Amino acid sequence: METKKLAGQTALVTGASSGIGKACAIALGEAGANVVVNFAGNSAGADEAVDIIKETGSGAIAIRADVSKKDQVDAMFAEAVKAFGTVDILVNNAGLQKDAAFVDMTLEDWNYVLGVNLTGQFLCAQSAVKEFLRRGMNGHRSLGKIICMSSVHELIPWAGHINYAASKGGVMLMMRSLAQELGPMKIRVNSIAPGAIKTPINRMAWETPEAEQRLLRLIPYKRVGDVADIGNAAVWLASDESDYIHGATIFVDGGMTLYPGFEDNG
Ligand code: NAD
Repeated sequence: METKKLAGQTALVTGASSGIGKACAIALGEAGANVVVNFAGNSAGADEAVDIIKETGSGAIAIRADVSKKDQVDAMFAEAVKAFGTVDILVNNAGLQKDAAFVDMTLEDWNYVLGVNLTGQFLCAQSAVKEFLRRGMNGHRSLGKIICMSSVHELIPWAGHINYAASKGGVMLMMRSLAQELGPMKIRVNSIAPGAIKTPINRMAWETPEAEQRLLRLIPYKRVGDVADIGNAAVWLASDESDYIHGATIFVDGGMTLYPGFEDNG
């Protein structure tokens, strides 16, 4: 029997009870990794992911933690190490939107989005790196892999979503600076920047045929993305097949970043 790509490794995926995180957790499990399914509130979604992963033959546990809280992140990593011995792969996925026109945006909503989308990724990356260094090399090409879930909005400005765009712009330079600092330690750091993927975060944008048609104007490939598109990219970025990919953002967006406004001569 062929050995699965991520056999013998453990992945921790944040915000994995729904959407892209859940799909990444399941895809990593299918590829042979044990998976820690982090969730904030939706324990039913996390339990469902755990059940699906276990059916593939990989180990899985759900751990509740708010990624913006250091004590909860520390406790989550301790529990993950206790369950599976170590963590090899972090998918820094948890994220949310609190949209408002700039003049109406409250400081609370600014801090909330930055706290989860950027500080949450910082806290989880730091805990992951400490665990990679504690454990040492263990038969894989790198000491550990960190995959940050960014967005096309690390590049494309987004009116009405200033907090979200700022958080993803922050993720972009945090990821690249981490890659520069951690590369010599054999820790691989990259981002996935999804375009429009059908998940609960953007239901309004694809739920009706009219909304979907409007959305397709922004996508040269004329298909709204599916969570599996991101799960596949995450498995590849976590595997030794991508061992020389470091400090990169992989845009998985059907061409949303290709200035589609110019496809009809501008
Ligand atoms: P989603 O709402 O289904 O998933 C977000 C997950 O994060 C949820 O499970 C939620 O419970 C979790 N979460 C929120 N706050 C948390 C916290 N404090 N601690 C732990 N978990 C928390 O939406 P999604 O589309 O799957 O989003 C996943 C990631 O992908 C986000 O970072 C988002 O910015 C990014 N993204 C999504 C799209 C898209 O089109 N869907 C596009 C670009 C980027």
